[in-house]
Amino acid sequence: MMLRSLREQVAAQSRLLAAEGLVLGTAGNLSARQGDLVAITPTGARLADLRAEHITVIDQRGEVVEGSLAPTSELDLHLGIYRRFRAGAVVHTHAPMATALSLVLDELPCVHYQLVELGGTVPVAPYRTFGTPELADAVLDVLEGHTAALMANHGGITHGADLETATHRTLLLEWGCELYWKAAQLAKPRALDRAERDDYDRQTARLRYGSTQKID
Ligand SMILES: [Zn+2]
Repeated sequence: MMLRSLREQVAAQSRLLAAEGLVLGTAGNLSARQGDLVAITPTGARLADLRAEHITVIDQRGEVVEGSLAPTSELDLHLGIYRRFRAGAVVHTHAPMATALSLVLDELPCVHYQLVELGGTVPVAPYRTFGTPELADAVLDVLEGHTAALMANHGGITHGADLETATHRTLLLEWGCELYWKAAQLAKPRALDRAERDDYDRQTARLRYGSTQKID
């Protein structure tokens, strides 16, 4: 099987997001790139049930190289992110909190320093019909300078150098959306300004914070 380990990763992270309640049924799609090839979830499949053999391998034009199932309908979105940002992985979900906030916000403010990893603020791409090049264009435009975006009346998307990072960012985005929602019940949440975000970046570099230490 081509790209066996990458396909296993895509299936495993799909099951993880389903187990975490971030994808319901078939709503969501994941992919990871190795060179010019992309391992991507199939259309119409329950993410909780995916195994390596269900993951399709495509090239940069979207042609199926190996796999018996047709790739996700959001193919243009995934391939566009690889082309524009040279990302290693893309995760798109209709996670409950991200989707809820996509109905009301024009931008998720940077309400916690952990969100700096997503680019600080999280932009909201305008609504376009699912699976269209117009949706891909709208999302690519707002992702400039960010690793996460909300998609109006649709869901959320993240990318990263590898699939673990992209999945972690999807979980972080959902956490940030829930945090904002809870705080917004009480009053208008305070957001970190540019200087505070830049200070966070400097402190991270100084302490190498965020690099996990291996515990034996
Ligand atoms: Zn979607």
